[in-house]
Amino acid sequence: MTGLGERVRTAIDAQVIGPRVWLYANYHCNLTCSYCLTESSPRAPRRELAHDLMVAVAVEARELGFRRLGLTGGEVFMRPDIVETIAALARILPIVVLTNGTLFTPRLRKRLRPLAGRDVALQISLDSAEPETNDAARGPGNYRRVVAAIPRLVADGHDVRIATTLDRRDDAALERLCTLHRSLGVTDDRHIVRAVVRRGRADEQGVGVPVDHAALFPEPTVTAEGVFWSPFGATVRGGLMDTDLRVSATILPLADPIASLLDHADARPGGNDGLIGIR
Ligand code: SF4
Repeated sequence: MTGLGERVRTAIDAQVIGPRVWLYANYHCNLTCSYCLTESSPRAPRRELAHDLMVAVAVEARELGFRRLGLTGGEVFMRPDIVETIAALARILPIVVLTNGTLFTPRLRKRLRPLAGRDVALQISLDSAEPETNDAARGPGNYRRVVAAIPRLVADGHDVRIATTLDRRDDAALERLCTLHRSLGVTDDRHIVRAVVRRGRADEQGVGVPVDHAALFPEPTVTAEGVFWSPFGATVRGGLMDTDLRVSATILPLADPIASLLDHADARPGGNDGLIGIR
């Protein structure tokens, strides 16, 4: 193991940094959610990471001692090549794929079926058990499509998780949502709840929790515009990438941005799991 690899392993074990490297596959999306951190929409600049680059990042991440991958966007299933990319990445490290859950046509589900039983989790956004509340932020018809897709993906044998983003915590509403996800075949340990983060469109609207280096657990995040401190740092405002949480404008060799991130992370108290996480 290299000196840097030893440093990464020690930092992960001490919870100074996360064990996962995130990849922003693209920034465009079929939805236009009101709190979107990345100002994603069908017309947003794509900012795609090439397949080969994502594979190269994953290989080096594994060599450096990282233990998992995360794939996010935008909506990753907007990319015609993404199933092949997920399959390639899953051969390198276990992966969680974040998706809005609205594009799972029978054709896409058929292409995804070989990934069932592999170390691939599909993490689908669903914010409320009430369609009106969910769709107010995520768009008309979103609830109907997501609630239809989840049990189909579970039946296909996938590891399905649900991610809920809340502006205000309401325990009774959350319990109704938990009853719903259990009925769809998703257990409590597969349900992630987090606060809206005040970046991107959420910042424009003045909602959510402000974040900075101190509030965010460091998880290296690779985008077409460089490497960031956290997936919550690689955000867009006014059409431009935010750079306050960017670690490096270059990506490869990954060792360089990882060394910079570790230098910053070492200044944080060990075991501090930050305020916000999407793991
Ligand atoms: S929050 Fe997710 S699903 Fe909604 S517009 Fe942004 S990237 Fe798309």
